[in-house]
Amino acid sequence: MNNNLPPRDSFVRTQYNMTGAQPRYAIIGGGISGLSAAYYLQKQIPDAAITVFESGERLGGVLKTIRTGSFLIETSADMFVTQPSDAFELCRDLGIENELIATLPVQDRAFIGLGDTIFPVPQGLSMMVPTRRQPILDSALLTKHGKSRFLGETEIEALPNPKDESLKSFAIRRFGIEAYEKIIQPMVSGIYTADPAKLSMNATMQRFVDMERQHGSLIAAMQNNRNQGDSQASGARYAMFRAPSGGMSTLVTALIQALPKIDVKTNTLVTNVSARSATSPGNRWAVDGRPFDGIILATPAAASASMIGETDPTLADALSGITTASSAIVVLAIARSQLKTNFRGFGIIYPHIDGGQVIALSFSSNKFAGRCEEDEVLIRCFIGGALQSDLVDLPDNKLIEIAIAQLNRSIGLAGEPIFTAVFRWKQCMPQYHLGHLSRVQQIEQQTERHYGLEIAGNSYRGVGIPACIASGKSAADRMLKASN
Ligand SMILES: Cc1cc2nc3c(=O)[nH]c(=O)nc-3n(C[C@H](O)[C@H](O)[C@H](O)COP(=O)(O)OP(=O)(O)OC[C@H]3O[C@@H](n4cnc5c(N)ncnc54)[C@H](O)[C@@H]3O)c2cc1C
Repeated sequence: MNNNLPPRDSFVRTQYNMTGAQPRYAIIGGGISGLSAAYYLQKQIPDAAITVFESGERLGGVLKTIRTGSFLIETSADMFVTQPSDAFELCRDLGIENELIATLPVQDRAFIGLGDTIFPVPQGLSMMVPTRRQPILDSALLTKHGKSRFLGETEIEALPNPKDESLKSFAIRRFGIEAYEKIIQPMVSGIYTADPAKLSMNATMQRFVDMERQHGSLIAAMQNNRNQGDSQASGARYAMFRAPSGGMSTLVTALIQALPKIDVKTNTLVTNVSARSATSPGNRWAVDGRPFDGIILATPAAASASMIGETDPTLADALSGITTASSAIVVLAIARSQLKTNFRGFGIIYPHIDGGQVIALSFSSNKFAGRCEEDEVLIRCFIGGALQSDLVDLPDNKLIEIAIAQLNRSIGLAGEPIFTAVFRWKQCMPQYHLGHLSRVQQIEQQTERHYGLEIAGNSYRGVGIPACIASGKSAADRMLKASN
């Protein structure tokens, strides 16, 4: 670590604003986390000069909406949860709250594909917890034994001293192998594109860990919460999702418009952030040689590690431990008449035990209005993830072939799509492996030692859009506190 730099606790109050100079902040990474950090920083320190460095040619990071003819295509995220409310609140602040739309009403929303058959996800399932018995008993997805083991979770004793446990171990222990393989693994894989044998329960589903600890059983906990009026315990999570009617780029554009004074440097790959002299009150940091009073690293952990390595190898080492997975999205634009079945669900998820190459088929036009014309269907096929990362490097035509074959198998497709497109997200999804929270704590503590350095982004405390916005906001809050 650079010994010129005083630890934050020993910092003598030579604050930026005491110098009378306009405080200068650099935000590295122009994804939703970095833009949120810029937004909240500007809100709190209106006279700040903020520069956003972004290696890509545009702001927004993975968030990007494309319009092609009547089709509105999301190239990555297509919706966000309203609870936690950070994304919703930001939209309200930005004046785009009225542009948010809810998911369309349909009977059965999600399906599970096994072989040639698709089964509705039993109603009342809250992520992995069955909150209603009858839909499980009626489902053709599980065997009699599988159902009784799934619903018999109330009889399984809680672990006396649970350590951080993988999703796979936790789910099999509580609900049995069959429910895990056929329901829980595909449901969770779709969200984290992770290897469930490595995915940390504490980092991703702490709520369920707490339920076991407090109530002995997740089913009992859900029942208890429902009795106390917790709407999340009903299993109706789709009601909690929203998307801007014009797609996710609406959020990015609104943020950019709310930041007219910031200096945006796109096509600028930052390679080094270093601590300058501790004795001068301003200019504590250098971003590739340019002076700043404070910086927020809103880049993926590996990129942040490489930038900070020279200044703090310990921090860089901890950051490097957070690995990522890649995925590809194949877009299929189809005439509705080409589908052999009038599929009205939101999508189909495929268990790993099915042995296929597709994680999920998401029917964008069944989820949200305005994604294409009535006589058209817009489908996004997810391929890759931690369990099959090699697939992402297949050529476009191969990926399209895989997507079409899966659609044909599950729904039936006649003829060629109107058009197809492929988007690859390489090393974009951080993997919250066992021990992730301890690592994040270590990163936060080590970061705290540097005055004027903050981190934000999806690598740490949540991959969803609300968590990313929250990370940007709290980085700005900490920066403000440090400046006062
Ligand atoms: C395919 C996919 C589907 C998803 N679906 C959903 C969903 O439906 N709902 C949801 O809530 N979440 C979803 N997510 C997750 C969510 O979209 C992301 O976690 C979030 O957008 C990440 O934002 P970020 O700003 O932290 O990172 P990013 O968007 O990755 O932004 C980081 C930025 O840093 C830049 N950068 C990196 N290194 C440097 C450098 N050295 N110098 C300068 N710039 C640099 C990058 O170019 C990038 O623009 C999805 C993610 C993916 C990939």
